[in-house]
Amino acid sequence: MGKGIISASLGKLLQARGFKVTIQKLDPYINVDPGTLNPYEHGECYVTLDGAETDLDLGHYERFLGIPTSQANNVTTGRIYQTVINKERKGDYLGKTVQVIPHITDEIKRRIKLLGTKNRFDVVITEIGETVGDIESLPYIEAVRQLIWEMGESNTLVIHLTLVPFLSATGELKTKPTQHSVKVLLENGIQPNVLILRTEKDLTIDIRKKVALFCNVNLESVVQSIDVSTIYEVPILMQKEKLDVTAIKKLKLTDTGPPELAPWKQFLKRLKNPKHTVKIGLIGKYVELQDSYKSIHESLIHAGSSNDCKVEVKFIHSEDITDSNYVELLDGLKGIVVAPGFGDRGIDGKILSVKYARKNNIPFFGVCLGLQCAVIEFARDVLELDKAHSTEMATKTPHPVIDLMEEQKGVTEKGGTMRLGGYPCVLKKGTIAHAAYAVKEVMERHRHRYEFNNHYLDAFEKAGMIASGINPDTYLVEIMEIPLHKWFIGVQFHPEYSSTVLRPHPLFVSFIKASIS
Ligand code: GLN
Repeated sequence: MGKGIISASLGKLLQARGFKVTIQKLDPYINVDPGTLNPYEHGECYVTLDGAETDLDLGHYERFLGIPTSQANNVTTGRIYQTVINKERKGDYLGKTVQVIPHITDEIKRRIKLLGTKNRFDVVITEIGETVGDIESLPYIEAVRQLIWEMGESNTLVIHLTLVPFLSATGELKTKPTQHSVKVLLENGIQPNVLILRTEKDLTIDIRKKVALFCNVNLESVVQSIDVSTIYEVPILMQKEKLDVTAIKKLKLTDTGPPELAPWKQFLKRLKNPKHTVKIGLIGKYVELQDSYKSIHESLIHAGSSNDCKVEVKFIHSEDITDSNYVELLDGLKGIVVAPGFGDRGIDGKILSVKYARKNNIPFFGVCLGLQCAVIEFARDVLELDKAHSTEMATKTPHPVIDLMEEQKGVTEKGGTMRLGGYPCVLKKGTIAHAAYAVKEVMERHRHRYEFNNHYLDAFEKAGMIASGINPDTYLVEIMEIPLHKWFIGVQFHPEYSSTVLRPHPLFVSFIKASIS
């Protein structure tokens, strides 16, 4: 439906008017965080600088607003219950029956208000996952009802996103689903202030009037959100619909004039008028669901725009790549990205893709598991360690070039126990990585258990693959590259999480630049 993009777009407009804005996502499922979810379930797991494993919508928030989010920006039902149950065990509610209302709803309200304390933000946008009417979302709806009552009308704004289906047989747009879901909200005590209608055709004034009348909102509060070619167009569309003006009025904020969107529009202009086109292969094992690699895909688009280049991403399933077809399958790609991932499935296809890129001097970018595959391939083919592998895939390999981190060895629990969040990386002078970043030290986000085995570093460097980024505290390898190759870099961290519209990630920018030339 696009709640995340709408939230991010409203956030962007308010921010561009000078307000301090953050966006938060409440997810009504029982997992404590999405870190334990398969990407097929819920798309990519997004990692914040403070090491929280979060919903992919936080990626949109950061890409649009360009400011970091944190653990507080994503709360699930699992986390809410965990907090309440822990308190119950400690005796904090001694003598009382612990119930959904008020204890769960109080905890939801506390989490919503948390980001607004200490005057850090003028506006906190809270996006509630799933759909009105779901059993899971009921406590959230009730918490919102109470918050409006407690905080007052002028401090709260409820935006409801609905779908207006188009029936091609009769050529009609149907507003019934909108009327119905508003009715459900009303039954729960909430009158939405703004309705955003997702539609593939323009809404006529008559349709808008009908929705306004039946759903009890002002005409200017019926906003259309029409399909567009890029999500980055949505803030501009929402501005045309005056969503920001409506929000400012309702919240009684001081209007500081129109939003400053010049840099954003500049980005869009370059995105829509490319001088080049480049085809990049993205090799992964969850390619059926493109949301699994959302941040990488968006990073490639950002980097494309800054290079005046349209990036065509070809998603290739690593399990489809075999010894007999890889040359044919990868032919014509101007750059190859090997995606992050876990476990054994599709690993051979990823290693073959590295080999193809390395031997044919095609720009290669390996991210996390992608770096690990590059290391394995180099060890086997150049260092002639035939059985080299990661101990994640082959526990008994005689050449564990990728091995479990020391501090991971005793870890048995899966949730939140990886090496997570921001760690520093010092760049080696004269390398491609250093030239791309143009600074000495960077902070990048992590999500992994395995690492390059430093025991082999000398052999790698002598044979032509060097460590161009190192963690200054632990000496863990962060970046490997092949200086004699056109552009061959593998990173242990996830640069894709920190690429934003106005600040595309330097490594992606440099990678696309090399792929064009
Ligand atoms: N499975 C690898 C590890 O845990 C890589 C993880 C990733 O690609 N995010 O180290």
